[in-house]
Amino acid sequence: MKKHLLFLGPPGAGKGTQAALLSEANSYLHLSTGELLRKEIDLDTDLGKQVKDIMNKGELVNDQLVLEIVKKNLDKYNKGWILDGYPRNLSQVNSLSNVLRDINQPLEIVFYLDIEDEVLIERLLMRGRKDDNEETIKTRLKIYKETTEPLIEHYKSLSLLENINADGDLKTIAAEIKQKMA
Ligand code: ADP
Repeated sequence: MKKHLLFLGPPGAGKGTQAALLSEANSYLHLSTGELLRKEIDLDTDLGKQVKDIMNKGELVNDQLVLEIVKKNLDKYNKGWILDGYPRNLSQVNSLSNVLRDINQPLEIVFYLDIEDEVLIERLLMRGRKDDNEETIKTRLKIYKETTEPLIEHYKSLSLLENINADGDLKTIAAEIKQKMA
């Protein structure tokens, strides 16, 4: 059974949902950088104040700041983990690979949740989070395509990538993921 996982895919692909299901079923840590950052905003911490405007615009938060969050959380966990929303650019890929080398827990599988843009936009508008308005969604998708999408090729070249059709019902997708985890 794989213990060190990563979810890759555009905003609205269902990374958070699938990562939550899978982490619960296996008692793994679900590390969502987006969730952790939103928590900081809700608590109105210094960090939260720093990232609020950037997140509401749909832009990426500073790499170093996100790296600190990831390190802090991965450090105290050894059962298994699922990364969701990190890494998002090649610099974060490098940082992550250094962190994982240091803690001696190599990444074992990268699930790429594959889905069409039209479905995404519809889903995000329905979800209605603070950054789910048309303007911000446009920015997030643009940044995803320019900055995050190249990671697919990277992980493919490392033979870590597993393609998942993310346009279906939740349970079918979860079953496909589970099967590939074994
Ligand atoms: P989604 O994938 O649906 O856009 P997330 O919760 O993963 O939702 O991310 C929401 C926002 O949090 C992003 O638009 C970005 O501003 C910030 N964020 C999350 N993860 C990262 C990251 N790894 N690097 C930089 N910013 C991030």
